[in-house]
Amino acid sequence: MYLRSGLSIDEAGRICMRECRGRCCRGPQYLRLSSDEVPGFRRLAESLGVTLRMTQEPDGGGAVRFLDHPGEHCPMLDEATSACRIHSQRPARCREFPDRSRPGCAISGG
Ligand code: SF4
Ligand code: SF4
Repeated sequence: MYLRSGLSIDEAGRICMRECRGRCCRGPQYLRLSSDEVPGFRRLAESLGVTLRMTQEPDGGGAVRFLDHPGEHCPMLDEATSACRIHSQRPARCREFPDRSRPGCAISGG
């Protein structure tokens, strides 16, 4: 994860949820899962009562298109708080992001 200088992970999380309202978990974007992550992600969705629409990638991984889900956000996002409901078990892509300074991103300094 690439954070701007001096920002802690906890502070970054608060900015993502409160100021940015989880922008990266919403809108015309995909979450890509490795083949190893797909079964666990399905189980988590089931335990939350979430209807998951996932397409299979040629390598056995999965792609979750946010626009295919209610609210047009990741089905794991809590709409009211913009918190990830599977935060402690979130996929690698979510743990790594942002992986570089990104324009318009308050926590990466872009
Ligand atoms: S754009 Fe940056 S601050 Fe906003 S949710 Fe994404 S990672 Fe967080
Ligand atoms: S799993 Fe969590 S962090 Fe990852 S896109 Fe969905 S809501 Fe965001």
